[in-house]
Amino acid sequence: MFDVLSLGEMLIDFTPVGISENGNPIFERNPGGGPANMACAAAKMGAKTAFLGKVGKDAFGTALKETLDKNGVNSDRLILSPEYPTTLAFVHLDADGDRSFSFYRHNGADTMLSFSEVDCAVLDDCRFFFCSSVLMAEGPSRRTSFSLMEEAKKRGVCTVFDPNLRPNLWGDTEEMKQQVLSAMRLADILKLSEEEAAFLTGIEEPEQAAEFLMREYPAKLLLITLGKNGSISFTRHLRLRHPGFPVKAVDTTAAGDSFTGGLLAALSQTEKTVGSLTEQELDRAIRFANAVGALTTTKKGSISALPTCAEVETLLRTN
Ligand code: ADP
Repeated sequence: MFDVLSLGEMLIDFTPVGISENGNPIFERNPGGGPANMACAAAKMGAKTAFLGKVGKDAFGTALKETLDKNGVNSDRLILSPEYPTTLAFVHLDADGDRSFSFYRHNGADTMLSFSEVDCAVLDDCRFFFCSSVLMAEGPSRRTSFSLMEEAKKRGVCTVFDPNLRPNLWGDTEEMKQQVLSAMRLADILKLSEEEAAFLTGIEEPEQAAEFLMREYPAKLLLITLGKNGSISFTRHLRLRHPGFPVKAVDTTAAGDSFTGGLLAALSQTEKTVGSLTEQELDRAIRFANAVGALTTTKKGSISALPTCAEVETLLRTN
């Protein structure tokens, strides 16, 4: 029924848009959350996609559900909680467009997703199950994330994990690392940024970190994204380096999420398992993912910055 099921946080990102007459910063209410960005990217790129998570039954949560609907993501499994509020994050951009976050997440609805609220039957009929570590930081959603990864594996669904490390959501960085390494053992596809690969392996050089990860973890496909320098991808048989696309980046928010969304949409086009892709098939999917990531950096915001399929095709044709 679905190509992609994305589990995770969906929240409001308040992004800075200028200074008021009184000299105070003005923030815009944007839908956000890595797994939600990823889901919208996958859906926009043609994959049948559903989102699983929890938001508050408040004005923010209702707006988030509408965002999924507008972007073609099935929102039937987005729970609107009367008890807990929608999580809020304030984004700060530095002069280079790089982000930092302040989170308002105490008892945030996303952390309160319990396993008993999820109908696992959805896993019987989907190809890719995606999650990240943000739900693992606190609350019942930690256990839910691990249980769903295990359930997905049991049912032969391809599990996709993006650590999406947010150290300021964790009291203890070492605990974050241990939880993330545990989740990585359950992942068929592993997507890390260059910085995450270095932090998790202790190896600065991405190719060497990738070799280490392929030795130590069962992933069938490992991707390390390198910002404007593209990505490297390893399978058990193949190694690909993609140099990335030259674009005028204004905001790198959601570049990695949209990369993954593009990748899963491209992989959904083939019946083959990840491990059995030819070099040409994998190269096509990775090029597509890099193009989606690159175009997302050319606009401000996350979901609103996602390109259309036609824009991606044009970039691929002209490069
Ligand atoms: P994350 O958001 O997880 O840190 P990256 O910043 O590595 O991920 O970006 C993911 C992908 O988006 C990259 O592999 C690349 O293809 C594309 N991308 C990111 N930043 C740029 C940029 N400045 N110019 C071109 N492409 C970019």
